[in-house]
Amino acid sequence: MIIHLKSNISLAESEKIAHELEAMHYHNGTHAILITASAVKELPAAVAAISDGHWAMDSDIQLASTKYRSELRSIQWGNTTIGGNSNNTVVIAVPCSVESWEQITQSAEMLKSLGINTLRAGCYKPRTSPYSFQGLGLEGLKMLAKVREQYGLNIITEVKDSSHVNEVIEYSDIIQIGAKAMYDQSILRRCGAARKPVLLKRGFGTTLQEFVQAAEFILSGGNEQVILCERGIRTFETKTRFTFDLCGAAYLKYNTNLPVILDPSHAMGYSYGVPDLAKASVAFGCDGLLIEVHPNPKVAKSDASQQLDHPTFTKLHGEMKTIAAAVGRHLM
Ligand code: PEP
Ligand code: MN
Repeated sequence: MIIHLKSNISLAESEKIAHELEAMHYHNGTHAILITASAVKELPAAVAAISDGHWAMDSDIQLASTKYRSELRSIQWGNTTIGGNSNNTVVIAVPCSVESWEQITQSAEMLKSLGINTLRAGCYKPRTSPYSFQGLGLEGLKMLAKVREQYGLNIITEVKDSSHVNEVIEYSDIIQIGAKAMYDQSILRRCGAARKPVLLKRGFGTTLQEFVQAAEFILSGGNEQVILCERGIRTFETKTRFTFDLCGAAYLKYNTNLPVILDPSHAMGYSYGVPDLAKASVAFGCDGLLIEVHPNPKVAKSDASQQLDHPTFTKLHGEMKTIAAAVGRHLM
């Protein structure tokens, strides 16, 4: 159950009540909010007199549920708004990893030439093999900070494990939690305490319920800025890297109040299919897209097979603009 306490109830007072009820709690600037287990269906007597509204939920999808809050949450960074009433389709076109100053500035220049304001690249890469490129770590974060300053771009970068979560939070404008890290509760809780947008990717073996529950860890820490990303799930099929779950994305779009972005690159795993899937994603009405793009995909140090080169992406960007306009959205 979600309980809004009256606006004169402070965080310190709600802390005491939360402790008694074994509930989570935070203050959103207007109300202290208590979140009990979803099994609690009756307003606890201890809070009846000081509550301003309560919502009994049928599962542990609570703060993210449209049953609690029907309007889509709006999240902002720089001049970019995703969700809310914006009707924006935000393009996050990115190399998989930061590899060198030359590679990342070539990427930044391409984005600027298309009017795109957000650059994403990983510095801590959650690779399947310990022998593959693991990312440049702090050196890469420092390059991203320089790119932000030099090009005025907002930076998304990912956290792989809790050993560097503070560093990633400090250097990024938007924190990415990847498909493999999304079960790491120390990362989720630390991001819940942060006050920056979080891009949370669905694990490839993760049910929709588990995915939204991971988002609940962040939301219930008081960080209301969570963006969900569908990036393909593992099925019996092996010809493509993963299976792009648009049914799941439709479920998230209609049952949660969180912006949903789609990542055709990791789903497909091969660049030849990415433009078609990206166009389908725009027509779907997603709030944003994550597409991997590299100045020279053949030599990319991670996810080489799926990254688009700059001319292919530039052409796709024009096509996506047309499709976005046709479905009443604005490609950013
Ligand atoms: C990535 O975005 O480059 C990435 C590692 O993706 P995922 O976590 O979805 O595998
Ligand atoms: Mn990648």
